[in-house]
Amino acid sequence: MLEINKLRSALLANVSHELKTPLSAIRGLADTLVQRDVQWDSEVAQGFLSTIKRESDTLNRIINDLVQMSQIEAVLLSIERQNSTVSVVMINIKEELRDLAKNHELYVNVPSNLPMVDIDEVRIGQVITNLVKNATHFSENGTMISVEAATENDQLITTVSDHGIGIPPEHIDRIFDRFYRVEPGVARNRGGIGVGLSICKTIVEKHDGNIWVQSQPGKGSKFCFSLPIDS
Ligand code: ADP
Repeated sequence: MLEINKLRSALLANVSHELKTPLSAIRGLADTLVQRDVQWDSEVAQGFLSTIKRESDTLNRIINDLVQMSQIEAVLLSIERQNSTVSVVMINIKEELRDLAKNHELYVNVPSNLPMVDIDEVRIGQVITNLVKNATHFSENGTMISVEAATENDQLITTVSDHGIGIPPEHIDRIFDRFYRVEPGVARNRGGIGVGLSICKTIVEKHDGNIWVQSQPGKGSKFCFSLPIDS
């Protein structure tokens, strides 16, 4: 419970600021447009409206992150494991992945005969979806994103790789920290508040696994997580 309270206060401090910035832009532009005594030419008005739309999208993404964040409380409280495989998880999230990576080339190599693992299918699906979502955000359209799974000793390793901007080595250690972003500007443009990877880490650790990243700036990133194979 203590952990949840800490989460809540960290979240409130960080998020109220993130919400205020787009909100005041929207409010300011709407105020400007609503003035009856000023006639804006249509191109200027169109520009204002586009900004309102973009800032609303930002708000929307922050709110989605908040929803995920509140889900983490549920994760901290319960993981419902069952005997399953990562290929079943991939089938469950197939449509979502296809939609997320619609502007990329998605390569999937998750054989159906991989060993069974004791997992919460929904939560592990959330981890893979989050990693693929990040891969799409930080790589050019048209480049390849791969999801692969293989065994390594007594672990099942799932890997999500991209050919994107990569992560500078000095940030690697902190990348899974809550609210951590390499470049606030980049994240802010798309409204992320830096919680996706911390949620992945919480979920994976609840499964007695680990999550890590190998990355080369300018070349791409490879996010891996391990799950213990049922003995
Ligand atoms: P968010 O995406 O909301 O900012 P995350 O916790 O998912 O938060 O990611 C934290 C930061 O890690 C991102 O802001 C970005 O700087 C970096 N990052 C995550 N995934 C990738 C990736 N595939 N390639 C490059 N950087 C990444």
